[in-house]
Amino acid sequence: MSERVLARCGDCGRGYAARILDDGTLHVMGGISDCRCGSDAFTQATVSLERRDPA
Ligand SMILES: [Zn+2]
Repeated sequence: MSERVLARCGDCGRGYAARILDDGTLHVMGGISDCRCGSDAFTQATVSLERRDPA
């Protein structure tokens, strides 16, 4: 089983749908290996996908 999470580019902050593999690897879905900005430094963001509007 894999857990769906949100991966965030550590460079530009763009978010991607991702999942955690059994070995703990963060895998961005959609065959994406690099961010559109060219970085591959993805980090796991919060699991919550709730939209937060600025107050
Ligand atoms: Zn990026």
